[in-house]
Amino acid sequence: MGLPIFDSDKNGRVSGYDVSIIGGGLGGLSLAIQLADAGYRVILFERKKYPFHRVCGEYISMESWDFLQRLGVPLHELRPPRITKLKVSSLKGIAVNHHMSPGGFGISRYTLDNELAIIARRKGVELVENVTVKGIDELDSRVIAGAFGKRSIMDKSLNRSGTLQADSPDRNWVGVKYHVRADVPEDEIQLHNFEGGYCGISKVDGDKYCLCYLTRAANLQRFQGDIESMEMNLLSANPFLKIIFSSRENFLFREPVTVSQISFQRKLPVENQVLMVGDSAGMIAPLCGNGMSMALHASLLCATAIQRFLESKISREEMERDYSVSWNRHFALRVKLGRMLQPILLRPGLSNILLSLLRRAPRLMNQIVSLTHGKPF
Ligand SMILES: Cc1cc2nc3c(=O)[nH]c(=O)nc-3n(C[C@H](O)[C@H](O)[C@H](O)COP(=O)(O)OP(=O)(O)OC[C@H]3O[C@@H](n4cnc5c(N)ncnc54)[C@H](O)[C@@H]3O)c2cc1C
Repeated sequence: MGLPIFDSDKNGRVSGYDVSIIGGGLGGLSLAIQLADAGYRVILFERKKYPFHRVCGEYISMESWDFLQRLGVPLHELRPPRITKLKVSSLKGIAVNHHMSPGGFGISRYTLDNELAIIARRKGVELVENVTVKGIDELDSRVIAGAFGKRSIMDKSLNRSGTLQADSPDRNWVGVKYHVRADVPEDEIQLHNFEGGYCGISKVDGDKYCLCYLTRAANLQRFQGDIESMEMNLLSANPFLKIIFSSRENFLFREPVTVSQISFQRKLPVENQVLMVGDSAGMIAPLCGNGMSMALHASLLCATAIQRFLESKISREEMERDYSVSWNRHFALRVKLGRMLQPILLRPGLSNILLSLLRRAPRLMNQIVSLTHGKPF
Protein backbone atom coordinates (compact mmCIF):
# COMPACT_ATOMS: atom_id res chain seq x y z
CA MET A 1 0.00 0.00 0.00
CA GLY A 2 1.85 3.07 -1.23
CA LEU A 3 -0.70 5.80 -0.67
CA PRO A 4 -0.91 8.15 2.26
CA ILE A 5 -4.22 7.40 3.97
CA PHE A 6 -7.11 9.81 3.67
CA ASP A 7 -10.32 7.99 4.54
CA SER A 8 -9.22 4.39 4.61
CA ASP A 9 -10.87 1.07 5.32
CA LYS A 10 -9.48 -1.58 7.68
CA ASN A 11 -7.27 -2.92 4.86
CA GLY A 12 -5.66 0.49 4.40
CA ARG A 13 -7.36 1.19 1.08
CA VAL A 14 -8.55 4.70 0.24
CA SER A 15 -12.29 4.58 0.91
CA GLY A 16 -15.31 6.74 1.58
CA TYR A 17 -15.31 8.32 -1.89
CA ASP A 18 -17.85 7.81 -4.65
CA VAL A 19 -15.22 8.23 -7.33
CA SER A 20 -11.42 7.89 -7.37
CA ILE A 21 -9.61 9.46 -10.31
CA ILE A 22 -6.04 8.55 -11.20
CA GLY A 23 -4.25 11.41 -12.99
CA GLY A 24 -4.82 15.15 -12.94
CA GLY A 25 -4.41 16.37 -16.52
CA LEU A 26 -7.31 17.89 -18.43
CA GLY A 27 -9.32 14.66 -18.48
CA GLY A 28 -9.02 13.90 -14.76
CA LEU A 29 -9.46 17.45 -13.49
CA SER A 30 -12.50 18.19 -15.65
CA LEU A 31 -14.13 14.88 -14.68
CA ALA A 32 -13.49 15.62 -10.99
CA ILE A 33 -15.04 19.09 -11.23
CA GLN A 34 -18.22 17.84 -12.91
CA LEU A 35 -18.75 15.04 -10.39
CA ALA A 36 -18.02 17.28 -7.40
CA ASP A 37 -20.51 19.79 -8.85
CA ALA A 38 -23.10 17.02 -8.95
CA GLY A 39 -22.57 16.47 -5.23
CA TYR A 40 -20.35 13.36 -5.23
CA ARG A 41 -17.31 12.75 -3.04
CA VAL A 42 -14.34 12.69 -5.38
CA ILE A 43 -10.66 12.03 -4.75
CA LEU A 44 -8.05 12.69 -7.46
CA PHE A 45 -4.42 11.57 -7.37
CA GLU A 46 -1.77 13.42 -9.38
CA ARG A 47 1.84 12.31 -9.29
CA LYS A 48 3.18 15.87 -9.78
CA LYS A 49 2.53 19.18 -8.04
CA TYR A 50 0.69 22.07 -9.74
CA PRO A 51 1.58 24.24 -11.51
CA PHE A 52 3.92 22.41 -13.88
CA HIS A 53 4.85 22.39 -17.54
CA ARG A 54 4.07 19.41 -19.73
CA VAL A 55 4.73 18.45 -23.32
CA CYS A 56 1.81 19.71 -25.41
CA GLY A 57 1.40 22.00 -28.42
CA GLU A 58 -1.09 24.05 -26.33
CA TYR A 59 -3.45 24.75 -29.24
CA ILE A 60 -7.05 23.94 -28.25
CA SER A 61 -9.78 23.73 -30.86
CA MET A 62 -12.68 26.15 -30.28
CA GLU A 63 -15.05 23.27 -29.58
CA SER A 64 -13.81 23.30 -25.95
CA TRP A 65 -14.27 27.02 -25.25
CA ASP A 66 -17.82 26.89 -23.83
CA PHE A 67 -17.16 23.73 -21.85
CA LEU A 68 -14.08 25.21 -20.16
CA GLN A 69 -16.08 28.30 -19.25
CA ARG A 70 -18.86 26.12 -17.81
CA LEU A 71 -16.24 24.38 -15.65
CA GLY A 72 -15.30 27.83 -14.34
CA VAL A 73 -12.10 28.62 -16.28
CA PRO A 74 -12.17 32.43 -16.71
CA LEU A 75 -11.20 32.41 -20.39
CA HIS A 76 -12.50 35.93 -20.96
CA GLU A 77 -10.13 37.22 -18.27
CA LEU A 78 -7.19 35.08 -19.40
CA ARG A 79 -7.79 36.27 -22.97
CA PRO A 80 -5.88 33.48 -24.73
CA PRO A 81 -4.94 34.34 -28.33
CA ARG A 82 -7.49 33.20 -30.94
CA ILE A 83 -5.88 31.19 -33.73
CA THR A 84 -7.59 31.10 -37.12
CA LYS A 85 -4.73 30.61 -39.56
CA LEU A 86 -2.82 27.44 -40.32
CA LYS A 87 0.49 27.21 -42.15
CA VAL A 88 1.83 23.75 -42.99
CA SER A 89 5.27 23.31 -44.53
CA SER A 90 7.07 20.31 -45.99
CA LEU A 91 10.74 19.54 -45.56
CA LYS A 92 11.53 21.36 -48.78
CA GLY A 93 9.77 24.43 -47.43
CA ILE A 94 6.65 24.09 -49.60
CA ALA A 95 4.04 25.91 -47.52
CA VAL A 96 0.26 25.89 -47.56
CA ASN A 97 -1.72 28.60 -45.80
CA HIS A 98 -5.26 28.00 -44.72
CA HIS A 99 -7.97 29.94 -42.91
CA MET A 100 -9.60 27.89 -40.14
CA SER A 101 -13.12 28.60 -39.00
CA PRO A 102 -13.63 28.58 -36.10
CA GLY A 103 -10.03 27.39 -35.37
CA GLY A 104 -8.83 27.44 -31.79
CA PHE A 105 -6.94 29.29 -29.09
CA GLY A 106 -3.59 29.02 -27.34
CA ILE A 107 -3.11 28.55 -23.60
CA SER A 108 -0.21 27.01 -21.73
CA ARG A 109 -0.86 23.82 -19.79
CA TYR A 110 0.97 25.45 -16.88
CA THR A 111 -1.86 27.98 -16.69
CA LEU A 112 -4.81 25.85 -17.76
CA ASP A 113 -4.20 22.77 -15.60
CA ASN A 114 -3.47 24.98 -12.61
CA GLU A 115 -6.73 26.91 -13.13
CA LEU A 116 -8.63 23.61 -13.23
CA ALA A 117 -6.83 22.33 -10.12
CA ILE A 118 -7.84 25.50 -8.22
CA ILE A 119 -11.47 25.08 -9.33
CA ALA A 120 -11.46 21.38 -8.37
CA ARG A 121 -10.22 22.15 -4.85
CA ARG A 122 -12.77 24.93 -4.49
CA LYS A 123 -15.57 22.54 -5.47
CA GLY A 124 -14.52 20.09 -2.75
CA VAL A 125 -12.45 17.57 -4.71
CA GLU A 126 -9.83 15.90 -2.50
CA LEU A 127 -6.84 16.73 -4.69
CA VAL A 128 -3.83 14.69 -3.70
CA GLU A 129 -0.58 15.86 -5.32
CA ASN A 130 2.82 14.20 -5.46
CA VAL A 131 1.28 10.73 -5.20
CA THR A 132 1.58 7.97 -7.79
CA VAL A 133 -1.14 5.33 -7.71
CA LYS A 134 0.42 1.95 -8.44
CA GLY A 135 -2.69 -0.23 -8.65
CA ILE A 136 -6.45 -0.10 -8.32
CA ASP A 137 -6.31 -2.42 -5.31
CA GLU A 138 -5.17 0.68 -3.38
CA LEU A 139 -8.58 2.27 -3.97
CA ASP A 140 -12.01 1.33 -2.69
CA SER A 141 -14.57 3.66 -4.21
CA ARG A 142 -17.75 2.92 -6.15
CA VAL A 143 -16.17 4.02 -9.43
CA ILE A 144 -12.54 4.31 -10.53
CA ALA A 145 -11.58 6.50 -13.49
CA GLY A 146 -8.19 6.29 -15.21
CA ALA A 147 -7.02 9.67 -16.52
CA PHE A 148 -3.32 8.87 -16.35
CA GLY A 149 -2.37 10.00 -19.84
CA LYS A 150 -0.33 8.45 -22.61
CA ARG A 151 1.87 6.22 -20.48
CA SER A 152 1.74 5.30 -16.82
CA ILE A 153 2.74 2.65 -14.36
CA MET A 154 -1.03 2.00 -14.27
CA ASP A 155 -0.96 0.50 -17.80
CA LYS A 156 1.27 -2.28 -16.56
CA SER A 157 -0.56 -2.77 -13.33
CA LEU A 158 -3.87 -3.09 -15.23
CA ASN A 159 -2.19 -5.43 -17.72
CA ARG A 160 -3.53 -3.34 -20.60
CA SER A 161 -3.23 -5.17 -23.87
CA GLY A 162 -2.69 -2.11 -26.12
CA THR A 163 0.14 -0.64 -24.09
CA LEU A 164 2.39 -3.45 -23.00
CA GLN A 165 4.38 -4.45 -26.08
CA ALA A 166 7.65 -2.56 -26.29
CA ASP A 167 7.48 -0.60 -29.54
CA SER A 168 10.48 -0.49 -31.86
CA PRO A 169 12.32 2.89 -31.91
CA ASP A 170 10.58 3.46 -35.24
CA ARG A 171 7.11 3.22 -33.74
CA ASN A 172 8.06 4.86 -30.50
CA TRP A 173 7.86 8.64 -30.16
CA VAL A 174 9.47 11.44 -28.23
CA GLY A 175 7.83 14.81 -27.53
CA VAL A 176 9.81 18.00 -26.85
CA LYS A 177 8.48 21.42 -25.82
CA TYR A 178 9.81 24.94 -25.22
CA HIS A 179 8.29 28.34 -24.65
CA VAL A 180 9.94 30.88 -26.93
CA ARG A 181 9.64 34.35 -28.35
CA ALA A 182 8.98 34.17 -32.07
CA ASP A 183 8.24 36.19 -35.12
CA VAL A 184 5.02 34.36 -35.96
CA PRO A 185 1.62 36.02 -36.44
CA GLU A 186 -0.38 35.83 -33.20
CA ASP A 187 -3.38 34.25 -34.93
CA GLU A 188 -1.41 31.56 -36.77
CA ILE A 189 -0.43 28.01 -35.93
CA GLN A 190 2.45 26.66 -37.96
CA LEU A 191 3.17 22.96 -38.49
CA HIS A 192 6.56 22.20 -40.01
CA ASN A 193 7.56 18.80 -41.28
CA PHE A 194 10.98 17.23 -40.86
CA GLU A 195 12.32 13.73 -41.50
CA GLY A 196 10.45 11.46 -39.06
CA GLY A 197 8.55 14.19 -37.22
CA TYR A 198 6.77 17.52 -37.21
CA CYS A 199 7.01 20.66 -35.14
CA GLY A 200 4.26 23.14 -34.23
CA ILE A 201 4.50 26.71 -33.08
CA SER A 202 1.69 29.02 -31.94
CA LYS A 203 1.04 31.76 -29.41
CA VAL A 204 -0.14 31.02 -25.89
CA ASP A 205 -1.06 33.24 -22.91
CA GLY A 206 1.61 35.73 -21.89
CA ASP A 207 4.01 37.16 -24.41
CA LYS A 208 5.29 33.78 -25.59
CA TYR A 209 4.87 30.96 -28.09
CA CYS A 210 4.72 27.23 -27.59
CA LEU A 211 7.25 25.36 -29.73
CA CYS A 212 6.59 21.64 -29.60
CA TYR A 213 7.56 18.68 -31.72
CA LEU A 214 7.05 14.97 -32.01
CA THR A 215 9.80 12.81 -33.44
CA ARG A 216 10.50 9.13 -33.86
CA ALA A 217 12.66 7.90 -30.97
CA ALA A 218 15.01 6.51 -33.64
CA ASN A 219 15.89 10.10 -34.64
CA LEU A 220 17.08 10.91 -31.15
CA GLN A 221 19.06 7.67 -31.03
CA ARG A 222 20.84 8.71 -34.25
CA PHE A 223 22.09 11.79 -32.36
CA GLN A 224 23.04 9.81 -29.23
CA GLY A 225 20.22 11.46 -27.27
CA ASP A 226 21.57 14.98 -27.93
CA ILE A 227 18.41 17.03 -28.48
CA GLU A 228 20.14 20.24 -29.57
CA SER A 229 22.25 18.41 -32.10
CA MET A 230 19.13 16.74 -33.53
CA GLU A 231 17.40 20.11 -33.76
CA MET A 232 20.34 21.77 -35.53
CA ASN A 233 21.04 18.93 -37.94
CA LEU A 234 17.72 17.22 -38.57
CA LEU A 235 14.86 19.62 -37.79
CA SER A 236 16.72 22.57 -39.29
CA ALA A 237 16.68 20.93 -42.72
CA ASN A 238 13.25 22.57 -42.96
CA PRO A 239 13.99 26.25 -43.71
CA PHE A 240 11.22 27.50 -41.40
CA LEU A 241 12.60 25.47 -38.49
CA LYS A 242 16.14 26.55 -39.26
CA ILE A 243 15.19 30.15 -38.50
CA ILE A 244 13.56 29.17 -35.20
CA PHE A 245 16.29 26.83 -33.95
CA SER A 246 19.11 29.21 -34.91
CA SER A 247 17.71 31.85 -32.55
CA ARG A 248 18.35 30.16 -29.20
CA GLU A 249 18.41 33.52 -27.43
CA ASN A 250 14.61 33.50 -27.90
CA PHE A 251 14.16 30.27 -25.95
CA LEU A 252 12.64 30.86 -22.51
CA PHE A 253 13.43 27.40 -21.07
CA ARG A 254 17.03 26.47 -20.38
CA GLU A 255 16.12 22.82 -20.97
CA PRO A 256 13.10 21.59 -22.91
CA VAL A 257 10.27 19.62 -21.30
CA THR A 258 10.35 16.13 -22.79
CA VAL A 259 8.32 12.95 -22.82
CA SER A 260 9.41 9.62 -24.27
CA GLN A 261 7.91 6.25 -25.09
CA ILE A 262 4.78 7.71 -26.67
CA SER A 263 2.88 5.08 -28.56
CA PHE A 264 -0.26 5.31 -30.69
CA GLN A 265 -1.35 1.73 -30.20
CA ARG A 266 -5.07 1.11 -29.80
CA LYS A 267 -6.46 1.12 -26.28
CA LEU A 268 -9.94 0.56 -24.84
CA PRO A 269 -12.11 3.16 -23.06
CA VAL A 270 -12.98 0.69 -20.28
CA GLU A 271 -10.63 -1.94 -18.87
CA ASN A 272 -10.85 -3.91 -15.62
CA GLN A 273 -13.93 -1.86 -14.70
CA VAL A 274 -11.85 1.33 -14.89
CA LEU A 275 -13.35 4.09 -17.09
CA MET A 276 -10.54 5.68 -19.09
CA VAL A 277 -10.59 9.37 -19.98
CA GLY A 278 -8.23 11.32 -22.25
CA ASP A 279 -5.05 9.77 -23.60
CA SER A 280 -5.47 6.70 -21.38
CA ALA A 281 -8.57 5.83 -23.47
CA GLY A 282 -6.87 6.45 -26.81
CA MET A 283 -4.21 8.77 -28.10
CA ILE A 284 -4.80 10.85 -31.21
CA ALA A 285 -1.86 11.96 -33.37
CA PRO A 286 -1.03 15.47 -32.09
CA LEU A 287 -0.99 16.62 -35.69
CA CYS A 288 -4.77 16.59 -35.45
CA GLY A 289 -4.42 19.17 -32.69
CA ASN A 290 -7.25 17.75 -30.73
CA GLY A 291 -6.13 15.56 -27.85
CA MET A 292 -7.02 18.21 -25.28
CA SER A 293 -10.54 18.68 -26.63
CA MET A 294 -10.97 14.93 -26.79
CA ALA A 295 -9.92 14.59 -23.14
CA LEU A 296 -12.35 17.33 -22.08
CA HIS A 297 -15.22 15.99 -24.17
CA ALA A 298 -14.60 12.42 -22.95
CA SER A 299 -14.80 13.68 -19.36
CA LEU A 300 -18.31 14.97 -20.09
CA LEU A 301 -19.39 11.61 -21.56
CA CYS A 302 -17.77 9.79 -18.65
CA ALA A 303 -19.33 12.05 -15.99
CA THR A 304 -22.77 11.48 -17.54
CA ALA A 305 -22.39 7.68 -17.45
CA ILE A 306 -20.97 7.70 -13.90
CA GLN A 307 -23.76 9.92 -12.58
CA ARG A 308 -26.46 7.65 -14.05
CA PHE A 309 -24.79 4.69 -12.32
CA LEU A 310 -24.41 6.48 -8.98
CA GLU A 311 -28.07 7.53 -9.16
CA SER A 312 -28.90 3.81 -9.63
CA LYS A 313 -30.50 4.50 -13.01
CA ILE A 314 -28.23 1.98 -14.76
CA SER A 315 -26.13 -0.99 -13.70
CA ARG A 316 -22.32 -1.03 -13.68
CA GLU A 317 -22.31 -3.07 -16.90
CA GLU A 318 -24.61 -0.52 -18.56
CA MET A 319 -22.40 2.35 -17.38
CA GLU A 320 -19.34 0.70 -18.91
CA ARG A 321 -21.13 -0.19 -22.13
CA ASP A 322 -22.77 3.25 -22.54
CA TYR A 323 -19.45 5.01 -22.03
CA SER A 324 -17.58 2.74 -24.48
CA VAL A 325 -20.25 3.20 -27.12
CA SER A 326 -20.34 6.99 -26.79
CA TRP A 327 -16.52 7.24 -26.71
CA ASN A 328 -16.28 5.28 -29.95
CA ARG A 329 -19.11 7.22 -31.58
CA HIS A 330 -17.43 10.55 -30.88
CA PHE A 331 -13.75 9.77 -31.30
CA ALA A 332 -13.03 6.56 -33.20
CA LEU A 333 -13.13 8.27 -36.62
CA ARG A 334 -10.88 11.16 -35.52
CA VAL A 335 -8.31 8.78 -34.06
CA LYS A 336 -8.36 6.76 -37.28
CA LEU A 337 -7.89 9.88 -39.40
CA GLY A 338 -4.96 10.94 -37.23
CA ARG A 339 -3.37 7.53 -37.75
CA MET A 340 -3.77 7.94 -41.52
CA LEU A 341 -2.49 11.52 -41.71
CA GLN A 342 0.50 11.12 -39.42
CA PRO A 343 2.51 8.72 -41.65
CA ILE A 344 1.92 10.96 -44.68
CA LEU A 345 3.29 14.05 -43.01
CA LEU A 346 6.20 12.03 -41.67
CA ARG A 347 7.38 10.99 -45.13
CA PRO A 348 9.01 14.05 -46.71
CA GLY A 349 8.27 12.80 -50.25
CA LEU A 350 4.59 12.19 -49.53
CA SER A 351 4.16 15.43 -47.60
CA ASN A 352 5.64 17.39 -50.53
CA ILE A 353 3.11 15.79 -52.86
CA LEU A 354 0.22 16.28 -50.43
CA LEU A 355 1.03 19.92 -49.77
CA SER A 356 1.45 20.68 -53.49
CA LEU A 357 -1.98 19.10 -54.01
CA LEU A 358 -3.59 20.98 -51.11
CA ARG A 359 -2.23 24.28 -52.41
CA ARG A 360 -4.37 23.75 -55.48
CA ALA A 361 -7.33 22.24 -53.64
CA PRO A 362 -8.27 24.44 -50.68
CA ARG A 363 -11.62 22.63 -50.38
CA LEU A 364 -9.81 19.40 -49.59
CA MET A 365 -7.76 21.21 -46.96
CA ASN A 366 -11.03 22.51 -45.47
CA GLN A 367 -12.39 19.00 -45.26
CA ILE A 368 -9.27 17.63 -43.58
CA VAL A 369 -9.18 20.45 -41.01
CA SER A 370 -12.88 20.15 -40.21
CA LEU A 371 -12.56 16.38 -39.76
CA THR A 372 -9.85 16.95 -37.15
CA HIS A 373 -11.92 19.54 -35.23
CA GLY A 374 -15.11 18.49 -33.43
CA LYS A 375 -18.30 20.34 -32.55
CA PRO A 376 -18.87 22.28 -29.29
CA PHE A 377 -20.12 20.06 -26.45
C1 LIG B 1 4.10 16.42 -28.74
C2 LIG B 1 2.65 16.57 -28.41
C3 LIG B 1 1.96 17.71 -28.81
C4 LIG B 1 0.60 17.85 -28.53
N1 LIG B 1 -0.05 18.98 -28.94
C5 LIG B 1 -1.37 19.12 -28.72
C6 LIG B 1 -2.06 20.29 -29.12
O1 LIG B 1 -1.49 21.26 -29.61
N2 LIG B 1 -3.40 20.35 -28.92
C7 LIG B 1 -4.10 19.32 -28.33
O2 LIG B 1 -5.33 19.44 -28.18
N3 LIG B 1 -3.46 18.21 -27.89
C8 LIG B 1 -2.13 18.09 -28.08
N4 LIG B 1 -1.46 16.98 -27.62
C9 LIG B 1 -2.23 15.96 -26.91
C10 LIG B 1 -2.60 16.40 -25.48
O3 LIG B 1 -1.46 16.88 -24.81
C11 LIG B 1 -3.20 15.25 -24.72
O4 LIG B 1 -4.18 14.63 -25.52
C12 LIG B 1 -3.84 15.70 -23.41
O5 LIG B 1 -2.87 16.25 -22.57
C13 LIG B 1 -4.53 14.53 -22.74
O6 LIG B 1 -4.91 14.86 -21.44
P1 LIG B 1 -4.99 13.74 -20.33
O7 LIG B 1 -5.69 14.34 -19.18
O8 LIG B 1 -5.52 12.49 -20.90
O9 LIG B 1 -3.47 13.38 -19.99
P2 LIG B 1 -2.30 14.26 -19.37
O10 LIG B 1 -2.53 15.69 -19.61
O11 LIG B 1 -1.03 13.63 -19.86
O12 LIG B 1 -2.45 13.99 -17.80
C14 LIG B 1 -2.22 12.74 -17.21
C15 LIG B 1 -1.79 12.97 -15.77
O13 LIG B 1 -1.77 11.75 -15.06
C16 LIG B 1 -0.68 11.78 -14.14
N5 LIG B 1 -0.39 10.39 -13.79
C17 LIG B 1 0.06 9.40 -14.62
N6 LIG B 1 0.15 8.24 -13.95
C18 LIG B 1 -0.25 8.49 -12.68
C19 LIG B 1 -0.38 7.68 -11.52
N7 LIG B 1 -0.09 6.37 -11.56
N8 LIG B 1 -0.79 8.26 -10.35
C20 LIG B 1 -1.07 9.59 -10.32
N9 LIG B 1 -0.98 10.41 -11.39
C21 LIG B 1 -0.58 9.85 -12.55
C22 LIG B 1 0.41 12.50 -14.90
O14 LIG B 1 1.38 13.08 -14.05
C23 LIG B 1 -0.38 13.55 -15.68
O15 LIG B 1 -0.44 14.77 -14.98
C24 LIG B 1 -0.10 16.83 -27.85
C25 LIG B 1 0.59 15.69 -27.41
C26 LIG B 1 1.96 15.56 -27.69
C27 LIG B 1 2.68 14.33 -27.22
